Amino acid sequence: MKFDRTVSTTCPYCGVGCQIDLNIKEGRIISAKASEGKAPNFGRLCVKGRFGTDYTHHPTRLTKPLIRKDLDKEKREPCGMEGFREASWDEALDMAADRISRTFLQSGSSAFGTFCCAKATNEDNYLFQKFVRSVLKTNNIDHCARLCHAASVAGLQKALGSAAMSNSIAEMKDLDLFIVTGSNTTETHPVISTYLKEAVVKNNARLIVIDPRKIEMANFAILHIQHKPGTDVAVYQAMAHVIVRDKLYSRDFIDRRTEGFEQYSASLDACTPQWAEKITGVTADKIEQAARLYGEAEKAAFYWGMGISQSVHGTDNTLSIANLALMCGHLGKPGTGVNPLRGQNNVQGCSDSGGLPNIYPGYQNVADEESALKFEKAWGTDLNRKPGLTTLEMSDAIGEGIISDFIIMGENPLMSEPDLNKAREHLSKLKNMIVIDIFLNETGQYADVILPAAAFSEKNGTFTNSDRRVQLVRKALDPPGEAREDWQIISELAKRVGRRIGQDFSSEFNFSRADEIWDEMAELVPAFGGISHERIEREDGIHWPCPDKSHRGSPYLFSDSFPRGKGKFHELKLTNLSEQPDDDFPYILSTGRVLYHWHGGTMTRRSVLNDISPRPFVEIHPDDARKENLDSDSTVRVSSRRGSIELDIRISDRSPTGVLFIPIHFAEAAVNELTRDIRDASAKIPDYKICAVKIEKGR
Ligand code: SF4
Repeated sequence: MKFDRTVSTTCPYCGVGCQIDLNIKEGRIISAKASEGKAPNFGRLCVKGRFGTDYTHHPTRLTKPLIRKDLDKEKREPCGMEGFREASWDEALDMAADRISRTFLQSGSSAFGTFCCAKATNEDNYLFQKFVRSVLKTNNIDHCARLCHAASVAGLQKALGSAAMSNSIAEMKDLDLFIVTGSNTTETHPVISTYLKEAVVKNNARLIVIDPRKIEMANFAILHIQHKPGTDVAVYQAMAHVIVRDKLYSRDFIDRRTEGFEQYSASLDACTPQWAEKITGVTADKIEQAARLYGEAEKAAFYWGMGISQSVHGTDNTLSIANLALMCGHLGKPGTGVNPLRGQNNVQGCSDSGGLPNIYPGYQNVADEESALKFEKAWGTDLNRKPGLTTLEMSDAIGEGIISDFIIMGENPLMSEPDLNKAREHLSKLKNMIVIDIFLNETGQYADVILPAAAFSEKNGTFTNSDRRVQLVRKALDPPGEAREDWQIISELAKRVGRRIGQDFSSEFNFSRADEIWDEMAELVPAFGGISHERIEREDGIHWPCPDKSHRGSPYLFSDSFPRGKGKFHELKLTNLSEQPDDDFPYILSTGRVLYHWHGGTMTRRSVLNDISPRPFVEIHPDDARKENLDSDSTVRVSSRRGSIELDIRISDRSPTGVLFIPIHFAEAAVNELTRDIRDASAKIPDYKICAVKIEKGR
């Protein structure tokens, strides 16, 4: 077929950040294929990038601003399109600005909660947090990073002072030994999984998988450690015990680059492999083997996902991995490091751009006077030094009546938060809710004003992938109807709110192109100083830190030092705060993703991908299915103390006995009806991977 044109851009799905060519004909994306010869995917693409961009043309796209018909009811109820009326941009923006400014003048900045968006560009997110901080004067801003890798961030910040992947995707070809843990890489980061498998098959790298499920990556592993869910720290502490006992650590690296080793190593005395066997169900022999492989390897890297971070012990899980890397000196070299695989296309960039409650762009602390003064000078206004609330703390504050106004750009907490009954109850108490999105999702149904946004193929800007590579997003089409780019919407809103509260922000939000926004951010963030849209266009993507124009970018980190100075060992105590199975709820429920869908399903459920994977299911081990008298034709009901959902059954020995697995993508059987809102104390991330449930025949 002859196309009108082909536009190269960045995949809107996972954090791999594949480069894709969109073939355009008569105003539609006709097909997509991998851009040839471009990092990070070099011609590879998974099914989502190849076939999943059709959601942008779905008939339910929002094309006009919407205003709720029954505004200011005592308790808001969710409603579909019939509950809204169409409005002009002026009316909708004025109404949003009226309501926001009224709250600001009556209740002050602490009455606001805001979510920015890991699917939007760096430029969208930079401007959103600038609006929140400089106009609304609050740091109550967060996004879904809180719900995916917050514990990886908290742990790595404590140990190293930096939380991003330490190595680039390109280095996977250099791997000697690597550990994949808590990551079903084949389905969540498909193109990365091809590089990792290639390292094994072509380059004889050795892989250890540490995961309770028999994930596909385990077929390539020399060792699969199937520990009981929630016992990760015991596995890694026992490995550390063996490495210390047998002196497999790097004395030189410990002396030069770390602090706290003697105290930490002394704390490992009791953490023998036999001790761990009783806790984890993994034989002591296997733990010994894993420890020796990791300790003796010339180069070794960790890759992990939600299985490590989405835990009430997530920070400790991460610290236990960092302890191992520090003691063996497996940091600071190509193909050697610690790598949390980021989930969403721009979750790394959204955090880098300041979409978190405690930092300005570039991880500059809001409570640090020097940083605050710098941003005050740049933005021409005074700023709030008090760190803001995290995602779930904002939900609590809404429930308690402290936050009355919620502004959400592109996130869907009514799919992503744990214990959805509670989350809905909280949202229903809001006085004012403004949503910027491309579809009316479960959360938007509670909004007062909905502002229609552009999808990834309808805007210019940048996404930063999981390995810190800043890449261009190029506009291929105009947004449908009257939809606008997020940064344009935010600019208009900021100016209108400013006028109503007596401040003139017209010059601060006066941008005509996305690259102008990037340039402002790059001036304020040392790690971005050498990156511009024009340079990325020339070089196809640049890894931060890249402090100046002559710098080539940083594919791997920590070659000379850590951002905190010396790497710090942390003693860990084993705790078990997860909900345990009992007679009433005898199974552990674990949640996760499947290849064909993405997160809350707002995009992939509106794509042809939904034809391949149209129905929610629970995965159950054959022994458990027999015990419960369930066969493959059964529809089942899975219930926890918080809720109940009905779904198909999939009998498979991928999950161990006693463990059920349900994917997160299906609103009609949302697994977060069941999950429990208990959080890691440091990272405030919920325990998505473990709660107690029962299973019975459905209707
Ligand atoms: Fe898109 Fe990720 Fe698939 Fe690449 S691996 S095509 S970035 S979803």
